[in-house]
Amino acid sequence: MNPNKKILIAGASIAGPALAYWLQRYGFEVTVVERAPAPRYGGQNIDVKGAGRQVAVKMGLEEAIKAANTGEVGVQFVNEDNEVEASFPKDNPNGLTSELEILRGDLVQILYNATKEAVRYQFGTHIVGLSEQAEAVRVTLADGRTEAYDLVVAADGLRSATRQLMFGDEPDIKFLGLYTCYLTIPRAGTDTDWARWYNAPDSRVLLLRPDNKGTTRASFNFLGDEDAYQHLSPDEQRQVLREKLAGAGWEAPRLLAALDDDPDLYFDAVSQVRAPRWTHGRYALLGDAGYCPSPITGMGTTLALVGAYVLAGELARHPEDHQQAFTAYEQRLRPFVEAAQELPPGTPALVYPSSRLGVAVLNKVAAVLASKPVAAISAWFNRPEREPDNNLQLPDYEHDAAYS
Ligand SMILES: Cc1cc2nc3c(=O)[nH]c(=O)nc-3n(C[C@H](O)[C@H](O)[C@H](O)COP(=O)(O)OP(=O)(O)OC[C@H]3O[C@@H](n4cnc5c(N)ncnc54)[C@H](O)[C@@H]3O)c2cc1C
Repeated sequence: MNPNKKILIAGASIAGPALAYWLQRYGFEVTVVERAPAPRYGGQNIDVKGAGRQVAVKMGLEEAIKAANTGEVGVQFVNEDNEVEASFPKDNPNGLTSELEILRGDLVQILYNATKEAVRYQFGTHIVGLSEQAEAVRVTLADGRTEAYDLVVAADGLRSATRQLMFGDEPDIKFLGLYTCYLTIPRAGTDTDWARWYNAPDSRVLLLRPDNKGTTRASFNFLGDEDAYQHLSPDEQRQVLREKLAGAGWEAPRLLAALDDDPDLYFDAVSQVRAPRWTHGRYALLGDAGYCPSPITGMGTTLALVGAYVLAGELARHPEDHQQAFTAYEQRLRPFVEAAQELPPGTPALVYPSSRLGVAVLNKVAAVLASKPVAAISAWFNRPEREPDNNLQLPDYEHDAAYS
């Protein structure tokens, strides 16, 4: 009998449902609590690549992911007049568009659909108290219920409140000097199958990407000081975005017009989570909650999928001893995570020039090819540790589980 059978996961985005998928396959009893009242489908395209893709294949999800492809053919750098200054088609190794590309919300939906029959989902609640006891963890939920679980996993993202209940002020959150927001806006005549990247003066970047829903996925990014815009209410966030978008030129008015309409507007300080440990006692961290690499690495989803596969696999391999499983999880995954979190020197400031001249330089193809900014962009999009998979050999846990 497996003494670690009942597992509670906080967060129903990518990492949580992916872990739930594997745990229920190995015979665990899984509950997922999600703070939002329903799955959150916002966000732009995300990459599923390398080891992340291998995990998706093992889950039997590759075809569903391919079927939900956004159709994006590559990325174009445009100037204020929407003239194309440089193009990076999909097959260009320096490009932004990856081979297995899917809207974040579509992947959330696919994972939720793949697990919702076998896993108990509780939306609109979250953990407010944790008390670790010898044989179990007593969990208090926001609605006042208390329940006992063998293990609890925080998969509730970069700003995880569950992590705080488990680890106090640990770990460090490293702010990267950049703020980002994602919103969905109506499609317009200027939209094409290309993603369009526009550098505005004052270190601002707008990125518009086609989706497979008849809308356009926008992101707006700007450099800023730590603490300048953190801990804001949604209304305060919209006000900051209005001020920051003012005078940006190009298609900024489209974002301004849509700011009030998107219920799932996402705005945050781009940061990395560097945790000295991902587990202690009966607690574990997974995905962005434990090792957020930041969206500028394009590795967040891959780390979430791979982390879920390894954590579940090790728990299945060590049914009698979750400490052994947790140690193996940390040892296997850490080199992969550390490589994914490396950023080229100078990012993100190099690709966010502050002056009009800097923007012009970035946007001139000849200059671009010789410039540091493009070296930095290339380095982002084409880093060896993002290729399959220099830092991780995925164990064959399913085979082990089948014969144990
Ligand atoms: C709405 C949204 C849009 C995003 N858009 C992009 C994007 O366009 N590009 C990109 O690279 N990355 C984006 N991300 C981040 C990306 O999903 C992650 O980097 C990556 O997929 C790892 O996922 P995760 O499951 O670890 O964390 P996340 O995707 O951050 O998911 C955390 C989940 O936990 C829930 N949650 C938060 N607090 C609690 C709590 N206390 N209890 C229970 N649940 C809680 C959140 O609502 C969320 O569903 C987005 C995240 C969100 C939530």
